[in-house]
Amino acid sequence: MTAVGAVHAAVRDGARVLVVGGGPAGLAAAGVLARGGVDVTVLEATTYPRSRICGEYLSPDAEAALVALGVEGLPDALDAPRLTGIRATASQAGEVRADIRSELPAPGRGVSRFDLDGRLADAVRESGVEIRESARVVGVAGDDACVSVSTAKTSFRGDALIVATGRLARPRGIDGGCGVESRPRRRWVAVKLHVRGPALPGLTELHFIEGAYVGLNEVRCGGERRVNICALASETTWAAAGRTPDGLLEYIAAQSPPFARRWWLSVPSDASRLSAAGFGFDRRTVPTEGPRPALVCGDAAALIAPLAGDGQAMALAAGVSAARALLAARARNGTLSAATVRAAAIAHAASFRKDMRVRLAAGRALQAALLHPRAAVALLRTVGTVRGAPAWLYRLTRGPLPTTL
Ligand SMILES: Cc1cc2nc3c(=O)[nH]c(=O)nc-3n(C[C@H](O)[C@H](O)[C@H](O)COP(=O)(O)OP(=O)(O)OC[C@H]3O[C@@H](n4cnc5c(N)ncnc54)[C@H](O)[C@@H]3O)c2cc1C
Repeated sequence: MTAVGAVHAAVRDGARVLVVGGGPAGLAAAGVLARGGVDVTVLEATTYPRSRICGEYLSPDAEAALVALGVEGLPDALDAPRLTGIRATASQAGEVRADIRSELPAPGRGVSRFDLDGRLADAVRESGVEIRESARVVGVAGDDACVSVSTAKTSFRGDALIVATGRLARPRGIDGGCGVESRPRRRWVAVKLHVRGPALPGLTELHFIEGAYVGLNEVRCGGERRVNICALASETTWAAAGRTPDGLLEYIAAQSPPFARRWWLSVPSDASRLSAAGFGFDRRTVPTEGPRPALVCGDAAALIAPLAGDGQAMALAAGVSAARALLAARARNGTLSAATVRAAAIAHAASFRKDMRVRLAAGRALQAALLHPRAAVALLRTVGTVRGAPAWLYRLTRGPLPTTL
């Protein structure tokens, strides 16, 4: 990587890739590229370790990416709780209308993002990746000669660009022009909090009300076992709840007795309280035109409805796939030329669409149904009475499941 106007950084094989965003998608891409002999710099807006808004349910289909990064067994190393069952309820006006429980086809793990992203960052650094923290990228560009990204302080150049900036607005120029992404049609608000108090060993709970739901599961964070409470609400529900994180959780508790029983026992850890607003689940454009288009991964390419609990696994898999597309193109041509990078961007976008299409559509449909009380009650009651239906829905929102995680 070369900072414009400065000369530094030993290059391992002449190929240089810039990765914007150091969440699961960006770190996975960086780690696999570095292990493949490419010189990589990650530009990350925050500093590690840090919390993220997330239900922190790590799906079993994350395993393949953890293996590719050389951190297989990370959930065991962190002593992360094993999540083997799911309970889903739908309530309306303070009354429970549906309440189902099921075993999950394969166990997930409760891993805090504080630990997961921090450990992934350590692992990719050990693979030779340079991570620049507190480096918020404001614009990206590409031409026949190189790609470049700029922060408030400086600019960087490389041969290829991976964009993994998550669910909020992407830096200017992703589409090859200087356009800014259009605002999502329907906007959502998310709230996350770690608490002590409620006991739900092995269980992930989802409690739905009109326009919002909250998920709970145990997680390991900084060596402690806690319960993650994470809610998603439409902007209308967020406004009705007073536009504060605790206001939203009180609002859900007032309508959902099963969640209220958990919430009353909860002792929040104030430092863990996070909220984010203004994101949506609209389809996002992924560039494949122009010289050296960016390879876009994770939530920056497409957001799966969070209730599927598969966003982190999807992000990890997409990062691995983007890195492999670049490595394959470089192996074929011996270089990361503009044509090679473009071929890799096209291959990555096509495989992302193919691998993720069904689970994205399934997640969207489930979310739309479950946030409308009548549809939620009908769906949960049906799923609760049809043998194998919960496992079928779970599989529909993910890739292949290993038996261990
Ligand atoms: C309410 C909610 C609950 C969820 N629950 C779950 C769950 O239980 N299980 C699950 O698997 N998934 C869940 N998800 C989804 C999951 O959190 C995401 O899919 C996953 O984090 C995507 O990873 P990513 O790397 O694409 O993006 P992120 O994790 O968002 O990482 C993006 C990174 O890019 C950095 N960044 C952003 N902009 C810039 C910039 N301009 N310059 C430099 N750096 C930048 C950010 O600081 C961040 O580190 C949930 C999501 C929500 C909203």
